[in-house]
Amino acid sequence: MNKDIATPVRTRAILEKYGFSFKKSLGQNFLIDTNILKKIVSFANLNENSGAIEIGPGIGALTEQLARMSKKVVAFEIDQRLLPILKDTLSPYSNVTIIHKDVLEANVQEVMDEELKGIEDVMVVANLPYYVTTPIIMKLLEERLPIRGIVCMLQKEVADRISARPGTKDYGSLSIAVQYYTEAETVMIVPKTVFVPQPNVDSAVIRLTRREHPAVTVKDEGFFFQVTKACFAQRRKTLLNNLTSQLPDGKQKKEEILTALSQSGIDPSRRGETLSLEEFGRLADELYPHFH
Ligand code: SAM
Repeated sequence: MNKDIATPVRTRAILEKYGFSFKKSLGQNFLIDTNILKKIVSFANLNENSGAIEIGPGIGALTEQLARMSKKVVAFEIDQRLLPILKDTLSPYSNVTIIHKDVLEANVQEVMDEELKGIEDVMVVANLPYYVTTPIIMKLLEERLPIRGIVCMLQKEVADRISARPGTKDYGSLSIAVQYYTEAETVMIVPKTVFVPQPNVDSAVIRLTRREHPAVTVKDEGFFFQVTKACFAQRRKTLLNNLTSQLPDGKQKKEEILTALSQSGIDPSRRGETLSLEEFGRLADELYPHFH
């Protein structure tokens, strides 16, 4: 077995060898704890026939563990300075492809078709750059990529919002957007001490398991998300207040909104944070004809 990249001593030696300086603007906080990395990989339940997509391999700490546990790894890295380092650190692994691209600009489906051809079980596994966690997760879900799910490290505060259940303070439009496509769970809380440099915020690992079908079936997805966002526009306000102030011509359509609430069996004085996905789905479908 090759020497792990992610020990404090080896990481320091690699960084020194290449004179690498961290770019805060790229969310560069590298993991230096092999046990944590192995645990992250174990949450993905990979086997020798699985493929893994990584976002932001850094110097290869997680990539290496993924290469050992799967058939093929494809990793998107934005920072050109890391390419020669990765070539060096990952040289013992022949099943890794590094793609020098901003993942937000990348055509991930095309990369999957080329690099993971014939592999049926694919997971995204990443220690995400914290400045773009939500856009990355939403891109992967909205593009409906043929992946089994996502296991990723992110800010604990965002993990809490993503996996929040109705009736809790963290529940909001992000919980709904992610839970519409996946089953979301926080699987591990991670201390700051396992990163170099240490981030300013606490971290957590979440697992998102893609649903075969979205959690609710609605007439119009775009409108469903518009309604959920409207209902959380001001958390202290009632559904009726938020909907009348946020939906187009909502004030003039107050009666229609009241009718839709009543037909979906939802009390207008409730707040968005108390509604389940099913209730949001019913409400959006009842509102839909009045706004189209
Ligand atoms: N995987 C490594 C680890 O766990 O030690 C590094 C994780 S570090 C938190 C995030 C990585 O994402 C960095 O290598 C950074 O350069 C890269 N990155 C930042 N923004 C990116 C983007 N838009 N697309 C691809 N990679 C990005």
